[in-house]
Amino acid sequence: MAGIYVHIPFCRKQCSYCDFYKSTLLENKKTLLVSLMKELDHKANYLEGDRIETIYIGGGTPSVLSIEEINLLLSKISAVYKVSDKAEITFEANPDDLNKTYLERLYNNTVINRLSIGIQSFIDRDLRLLNRRHDSTKAKHAIRDTLKAGFSDVSIDLIYSIPGMSMDEWICNLNTAFSFNIHHLSAYFLTFEPGTCIYGKLKNKEIDQVKEEQSLEQYKKLIEIAEKAGYIQYEISNFSLPGHLSKHNSGYWSGKKYIGIGPSAHSYNIKTRQWNVSDNAEYIMKINQNRTYFEMEHLNLKTRFNEYIMTGLRTKWGIDLKEIEKKFGTEFYRLIINKALPFLKNNDIEEKENHYFLTSKGIFIADYIISAMFLD
Ligand code: SF4
Repeated sequence: MAGIYVHIPFCRKQCSYCDFYKSTLLENKKTLLVSLMKELDHKANYLEGDRIETIYIGGGTPSVLSIEEINLLLSKISAVYKVSDKAEITFEANPDDLNKTYLERLYNNTVINRLSIGIQSFIDRDLRLLNRRHDSTKAKHAIRDTLKAGFSDVSIDLIYSIPGMSMDEWICNLNTAFSFNIHHLSAYFLTFEPGTCIYGKLKNKEIDQVKEEQSLEQYKKLIEIAEKAGYIQYEISNFSLPGHLSKHNSGYWSGKKYIGIGPSAHSYNIKTRQWNVSDNAEYIMKINQNRTYFEMEHLNLKTRFNEYIMTGLRTKWGIDLKEIEKKFGTEFYRLIINKALPFLKNNDIEEKENHYFLTSKGIFIADYIISAMFLD
């Protein structure tokens, strides 16, 4: 079982907080698509023949693609890889691209069966600060029209801890999201990455960062409201109705193999990890000249172990101690038992049926616990 991620590195506008690789020069779209097709051929053996259970078209902004371009990509994937009939095929979209005609064609004329919409907030002031192209009215229309078009697996992204956002506004955002009966929610804490426009505003004291206690309160509210609305928290930032968790992202967290196609995309096949150049022009040029367009790392046992801890502990499935002993040996098993002791004592981690999980207390210091559990 494996997955394919396709990175569409174009955006119509630069959001103020975003440090993903993308370009606003959409005129290079057609040339880049040709290179994506070539990369799909190059990577044909990377997954060693594993069946593809999930495809994720992300970005950037995949909804800059026409229906014909999407189908070109998806048919190339099916021609080169063994794709399961029941594959989860996710498409990321920005609300402002989701008009009724596009949505109907996406639903009726492609094999995409899951939509992930970058809503971020239903408050216009937040959307302006984040420099998003849509406003709250468009955000609501996009969700309604997506469900109306027939999609039965719809996820939205929200951001909390936005400067100026009150607790009441955050609660209102969550209630609005759940009032649409969406199937899945990813909610992220706003980070200020150096080099982004919002980071500049913070440094120039044009905005204030939300205090840590306030952010934690907003995160607590998120968990509480999502749970009351019937959503299961299956990862630190992800909530779904039963049966609607993201299989693609769960694949990353459970160590399944995947290939990443496109500039800046990562690939992983247990033995190696590789990442493509983060530059459209360089990517296109190197693919066309048959030159290496990625860097590669061979993964040793310790790196694989640390990745297992990092991804496993973030999920509701936790880390499996028997699996650790089997996959990584008795020495690593003993080390992790020792490292977990203070957290077990402090009720930050609990043990159930040979698995370690973050408790509802530990989840608030997840990053600290995870790095303390790493082997150096
Ligand atoms: S649309 Fe998404 S990828 Fe593009 S700039 Fe905004 S946040 Fe980044």
